[in-house]
Amino acid sequence: MPTDRATVPRSRSRLRWPVEPAQGGWYTAAEHAAVDALLAESDNWRIGWKAAVGVAAFEEAFAVYTGSRCAVAFNSGGTALEMLLRCLHLGPEDEVVSCAVNFVGPHLAVIGQGARLVLAEPALPTLNLDPADTERVLSARTRAIVVTHWNGAVCDLRPFVELAARHPHPVHGPPRVIVDAARACGGRSPSGARVGAEGWATMFSFESKKLMTTLGQGGMVTTNDAFLAERLRQLRTYGGTQEWGTNQMMTKAQAAVGLVQLARLDEMNDARIARAHQRTTLLSDVEELTPPPTLPDRQHLYYRHNLLVPETWAGRGRDALMETLAREYGVGSIISDRPAYLFHRRVREHVGGRSCPRAERLIDRLLCPCLHPRIPAADEQQITDAIRQATAQVARTYPAP
Ligand SMILES: *Cc1c(COP(=O)(O)O)cnc(C)c1O
Repeated sequence: MPTDRATVPRSRSRLRWPVEPAQGGWYTAAEHAAVDALLAESDNWRIGWKAAVGVAAFEEAFAVYTGSRCAVAFNSGGTALEMLLRCLHLGPEDEVVSCAVNFVGPHLAVIGQGARLVLAEPALPTLNLDPADTERVLSARTRAIVVTHWNGAVCDLRPFVELAARHPHPVHGPPRVIVDAARACGGRSPSGARVGAEGWATMFSFESKKLMTTLGQGGMVTTNDAFLAERLRQLRTYGGTQEWGTNQMMTKAQAAVGLVQLARLDEMNDARIARAHQRTTLLSDVEELTPPPTLPDRQHLYYRHNLLVPETWAGRGRDALMETLAREYGVGSIISDRPAYLFHRRVREHVGGRSCPRAERLIDRLLCPCLHPRIPAADEQQITDAIRQATAQVARTYPAP
């Protein structure tokens, strides 16, 4: 039986800092003004909440920002990814590769489209999908590779594009490189491009916790493939006049707030990066903890500040550190993300007995203490002090590395 470490009691009620921030991107007077103006304008029977014009303006700005040819807005990142996969017309013979260390949503999107989900291992230092292990699991049935920029660590897509070119599907050609950038909006890749400009298509989420948010829900796909963009627009609005489709439109209010958030995104990301670097520096003398990599050749956005404990602490030592942080210091932290087959029945049944031992070993060493640029600086100092002290306490029980 897989152990469900997510159920480790962590004295949540006494937490002074929650296990994770409820909001990523935050609002200023400009977002409030945008919503007020829309309410005033739209409460009119001739105007109403028709979204097309406002959504098109947001899409246009998003395409320009990311340097991609097209952007198509959706009501969530999850539906955006699902529609993207739908455009591949996948069947039970088709395989889609994805990293075992990932949010459960991308896995379910593959399963939901009737294809076979094939998990591959993550690689240090980012824990993004490992190109070498991806090559191991590629087959003549592979139709797509989902590459997630995990926790803000922008992944180099070039090895995956090369791999896809070397392993074409006999009928459909090279597997599509689909990018999940839900946690990396505004990042830059080693090629210098903004996240969203490379690969077949990139999915973004504007859910509440993400780096920018459109009133708590929302998503976007960017692509340089105009044909794909048109197909996605049809799927989003009842199939145009030809095909199956449904309603997955973003609202006018979400688009208006999105425009303001997008204009503020770099500033918000810079604040987050500065805070993450500060935490890494303050913890640099704690030799038991491995901080997230800084990745100087690209832009790491630190959606979460991942800490890895020593291998000898994996599992129980890590749990003890999280519990000590919560109980004695009120600092919440989460394990984001455990391989979904360990805790999600549908994914577990789908992958059968197959597992990713490297992913499991790494995640047994992971904790992500709460990080947000809006946490007051004095609190941040207390959080890092707590991490240092709690680590010293755990080190008395668990052997040194
Ligand atoms: C949030 C998230 C999603 C899904 O986005 P929603 O807008 O919440 O549906 C997908 N992948 C990753 C990595 C995420 O963090």
